[in-house]
Amino acid sequence: MANFQGMARKLCEQLRAAGIQDEKVLRVIEQTPRHQFMPESLAHKAYENTALPIGNGQTISQPYIVALMTSLLLAQNPRKVLEIGTGSGYQTAILASLVDEVFSVERISALQYQAKRCLKKLDLHNVRTKVGDGWQGWQSKAPFDGIIVTAAAARVPEALLNQLSSEGGVMVMPLGETRQRLLVIKREGDDFTYRDLEDVRFVPLVEGDPE
Ligand code: SAH
Repeated sequence: MANFQGMARKLCEQLRAAGIQDEKVLRVIEQTPRHQFMPESLAHKAYENTALPIGNGQTISQPYIVALMTSLLLAQNPRKVLEIGTGSGYQTAILASLVDEVFSVERISALQYQAKRCLKKLDLHNVRTKVGDGWQGWQSKAPFDGIIVTAAAARVPEALLNQLSSEGGVMVMPLGETRQRLLVIKREGDDFTYRDLEDVRFVPLVEGDPE
């Protein structure tokens, strides 16, 4: 898809109209080939502002949500970020273009493998991915300045709160089951402040062993 940038530019106009203001985030979305992160049969829809299936019952998040969550995270200038739910690797790629280091955990090995290949193809070498249970975070790499969870948890994972930097660490995550809300949690020392933003729709953050 040679002319993806024209379509990506139009997508960014829609994101701007929807309220996304962070120009750095918009620029990276404009330059990232989202069509490479999905099955070829869906590539013609890659620059629409919608979530799309990526196999194994999972989805690539809607560009608006990727832009919103990334902007919320970036507002705190994180350098080292943990992502839970690699999925297609698209959100990972956006983050990797904006921060120094990204660590990403995915429970389905087939998706992790595919995402890793896509990220490598784009020369994004500041990313480490692994198959694991996101409820546990990535303890050996903690603390993180930022954590982004791209699947909805029924409660806030304790391990993730603990792995957040105590000096202004910020976590962006959807919380809830039938009704999900986007939360921004900020840590200062052992104080956590919660900001509740808007209704969102994510696949569940599954509990149990990776597949
Ligand atoms: N950021 C991804 C979103 C993928 S959907 C993208 O834009 O493509 C959410 C992903 O979270 C799925 O791939 C799902 O397998 C994964 N997931 C769900 N529960 C998980 C868990 N407990 N640990 C790690 N990953 C999990």
